[in-house]
Amino acid sequence: MTRRRDWLKSGAALIAAGSTPLGAAAQAAPSSTPAPTSAPAAPPPPTAAPTAPRTWSNWSGLQRCQPAQWLIPASEDELRRAIRQAPGPLRCVGAGHSFTPLVPTQGTLISLDRLSGLIAVDREKRQARVRAGTRIGQLARELDGHGLALLNQPDIDVQTLAGAIATGTHGTGRQLPALHDQVIALRLLTPDGELLDCSAQQQPELFQAAKVSLGSLGVITEMTLQLRPRHMLQRKVWLEPTEKLLARADALSQQHRHFELYLLPFTGYAAAITMDEVPEAAVERAAAADEHVLRDLQRLRDWLGRWPGMRRWVASKLIDPSQTEQSRDWSHRLLSTVRPTRFNETEFHVPREQGLAALKAALARLEQRNEVFFPMEFRWVRGDEAWLSPFHRRDSCSIAVHALAGEAHDYLLGEIAPLLAGFGGRPHWGKLHALGPERLGALYPRLRDFLALREQLDPRRRLLSPAMSQMLLGQA
Ligand SMILES: Cc1cc2nc3c(=O)[nH]c(=O)nc-3n(C[C@H](O)[C@H](O)[C@H](O)COP(=O)(O)OP(=O)(O)OC[C@H]3O[C@@H](n4cnc5c(N)ncnc54)[C@H](O)[C@@H]3O)c2cc1C
Repeated sequence: MTRRRDWLKSGAALIAAGSTPLGAAAQAAPSSTPAPTSAPAAPPPPTAAPTAPRTWSNWSGLQRCQPAQWLIPASEDELRRAIRQAPGPLRCVGAGHSFTPLVPTQGTLISLDRLSGLIAVDREKRQARVRAGTRIGQLARELDGHGLALLNQPDIDVQTLAGAIATGTHGTGRQLPALHDQVIALRLLTPDGELLDCSAQQQPELFQAAKVSLGSLGVITEMTLQLRPRHMLQRKVWLEPTEKLLARADALSQQHRHFELYLLPFTGYAAAITMDEVPEAAVERAAAADEHVLRDLQRLRDWLGRWPGMRRWVASKLIDPSQTEQSRDWSHRLLSTVRPTRFNETEFHVPREQGLAALKAALARLEQRNEVFFPMEFRWVRGDEAWLSPFHRRDSCSIAVHALAGEAHDYLLGEIAPLLAGFGGRPHWGKLHALGPERLGALYPRLRDFLALREQLDPRRRLLSPAMSQMLLGQA
């Protein structure tokens, strides 16, 4: 049976009763960054010629820039010719879904929006050559038509392939690696216009460096992915008291192909999500309720934030743990969702053995801040070999903490990031952190090799914006 998740039994009644926000004072002070009211600035209309200045902003509205020029080439050759003359810093942009200043430049912003789609599919080998500007969702739908699927997907699927692998984007699954580990070959265009093809056999060092390369080795123009046959997943979602669920979380992560948790701060409850492969059968979908849950949690914060004991008590009375949501569908339609509510986020990947301890410590810290209401996300990711992969030679657990866009989020950087770094956590490259070369060097054993290779490929440092120089070299 499928049901919509009305997690709070009397959410509507609570809303009606709450004409006076009891905990208004507990709300976060507004941050200096206004919440975006619409989609981030779209690139100018496609044109081969460099275009006039126009503002760019990321999905959450936190990062902005006004590049002198946008390059939106229609072919690899056009990009190759244009890149040599383009004013630096040269930065690539995908879908603009990173929170860190990876994209902003006052020089040239390069978008591969017109270099997207499948180039070739080999059904027998289960491989596909794909243009780097392809969005994950678009790719997944096209692959489905060929009887193929990605091994795993992140929480959303609007990112470009190149942008996603550039930051080590991942989904959840103890035995499943991040997306870049499915890449078996890629093509990189250096700032001098040289095209380099690499794979595990051809230039293997470049290959391991280029998979997660933050747009700082060159422009990735295409890649080949190893895939699996299309398959159906059964998803189950339920609520459970946090302590009880955490006690069996490790076992659940071993029993299910995909498993993740969302801890609901100040409620004593957590949501669990499992997904497992099942034989093909009729599609069965429950309506998504995540946005309703988020609104309910926000209302609880707004009214009772000043009284955390009362807030927890009310939540325990309103939350209905008897509800279970079941869905069955093709993998690409269940693995990723949509996130209409804008937020800012930090995420750290800690050694798997440290995962639950780090999660509990982060929850305890968050619950010292009455303004917090966003669920915390906890996932499992298998280790891999890419040099700057946050999962480099390390099976990991990922802990993500969010704050509503437009509300203060300084504690993500000031408190949560250092706490998770203290557990040996490596930052998600696309999510808020303030680590510089010294700390990053201690966490990423191949960073030095990466930087040496970077200097070879980009000796004039045309790919480094001030923010990238600061992060990677400690120099603005
Ligand atoms: C709502 C939301 C949900 C998210 N969910 C997840 C999740 O489940 N798991 C996860 O791991 N992350 C997640 N993220 C983070 C996101 O996946 C990463 O930040 C990802 O890098 C964004 O991809 P993008 O296409 O938007 O790239 P951008 O953010 O635009 O760029 C990211 C990096 O890629 C580089 N780049 C882009 N194109 C190229 C190219 N052609 N060649 C070389 N470099 C290039 C850019 O220069 C930049 O360094 C989420 C983010 C949001 C906003």
